Amino acid sequence: MTDCVFCKIVAGAIPASVVYEDESVVAFMDIGAVNPGHTLVVAKPHVADVFGLDDALAARVFQATARVARAVQAAFSPPGMSVYQANGAPAGQTVMHFHVHVVPRWPGDGMDLVWPVKNPPREELAANAAKIRAALTH
Ligand code: 5GP
Ligand code: ZN
Repeated sequence: MTDCVFCKIVAGAIPASVVYEDESVVAFMDIGAVNPGHTLVVAKPHVADVFGLDDALAARVFQATARVARAVQAAFSPPGMSVYQANGAPAGQTVMHFHVHVVPRWPGDGMDLVWPVKNPPREELAANAAKIRAALTH
């Protein structure tokens, strides 16, 4: 896509600090890094979100994510690591080209995800699980 910033990076049309690349994935430093070592793992084809990944690309992206996470851990030795991925504006996605954040974490680094726990009753969990099982195609 011509006006997609990550497609431009994949094509080499704009610069990025690349840490890993193969035929399906490129990983580079996030320009707005939350902490030193914050890396984005990006699918090379223009796929907007997780729903657009086929099984092969999903496998390649997560294999690369785990590999990059191990390298970031070895390079920066953070006491924690967040692997974060957003789909759609309400989930916080700002670049509509699939990517995974690998974010080294330190206590008090200010990165916060509010997690409003609802503790629904078991019947509700069972009903929701049944709904998702029925929607699974493979
Ligand atoms: P999202 O909010 O979609 O989960 O994450 C998009 C990320 O892409 C942001 O953290 C932002 O800093 C990063 N980003 C946006 N434009 C560029 C760019 O041109 N180069 C790099 N390296 N990162 C970018
Ligand atoms: Zn794109």
